[in-house]
Amino acid sequence: MTTYQNTIGVHALVWTGQTDVVAMEEAARKTRDAGYDLLELSLHQLDEMDLDGCRAAFEKYDLKIAGSRGLAADADVSSSDSATVARGVQLLHTSVDGVAQLGGHLLTGALYSAFGKATQPLSATGRANVVGALKDVSVHARERGVTLGLEVCNRYETNVVNTAADALRLADDIGEDNVLIHLDSYHMNIEERNLHAPILEVGDRLGYIHIGENNRGLLGSGSLNFGSFFWALDQINYAGGITFESFSSAVVSEQLSNDLAIWRNLWDDNTELATQARSFIDVQLRAAAS
Ligand code: MN
Repeated sequence: MTTYQNTIGVHALVWTGQTDVVAMEEAARKTRDAGYDLLELSLHQLDEMDLDGCRAAFEKYDLKIAGSRGLAADADVSSSDSATVARGVQLLHTSVDGVAQLGGHLLTGALYSAFGKATQPLSATGRANVVGALKDVSVHARERGVTLGLEVCNRYETNVVNTAADALRLADDIGEDNVLIHLDSYHMNIEERNLHAPILEVGDRLGYIHIGENNRGLLGSGSLNFGSFFWALDQINYAGGITFESFSSAVVSEQLSNDLAIWRNLWDDNTELATQARSFIDVQLRAAAS
């Protein structure tokens, strides 16, 4: 039987939009029951979370944890305003500390800008601020055993990193070895030529994957060519995390659902959704390796 080393995860917003310990423990149980080994948490409500209580819930189900986030309009390291950049750096430091306290080793997402459609291109000053800020944050992260992921997001969410090539240039400029590239099939479908070339281009600097359909609904039910996606992952011997993302108005997080423009109901039964996705990923990984 063909096996693989990848850790397979699921985003917490498949299960719940709440972040209290009771909701997190239920999410952890459902994650384990659906066959996943990692739970990814949005850190947008970090201030309100009981981090030690959540960590105990995750440890109870022996789950790995990843944290993800975008920045905020008033705390954005891609701003040309130094006070706004400083608040962004502070938010990222707090987020690194939060991930470490939850027992995790990865902070990823749009760590380089606020969520939302930019109204103009990134300025040269803004680009330089991103590099300086993330260099600082990566040093802070390394001291706490945390790796940073640069998630490549589509043009309606950021003007900093829209393609794998953008992310590689940014990581080069940051120049720290705990800064890796994070690709997401949903965003790749919007911005890249196909679902395999960016994976080959990033190669061993690929640190994390989000897998989601073109409409962020049921995996395998849309138009994405996952055969070529998994072929490319096999070509680069990718052994990192692969986390399933899917969002529906059936599960709402007050802030994140709005940031991600989750206006429609794409599913109601999250257990069926997650179980089916876990099986889909398994079949694809085995097919690519054989
Ligand atoms: Mn994603």
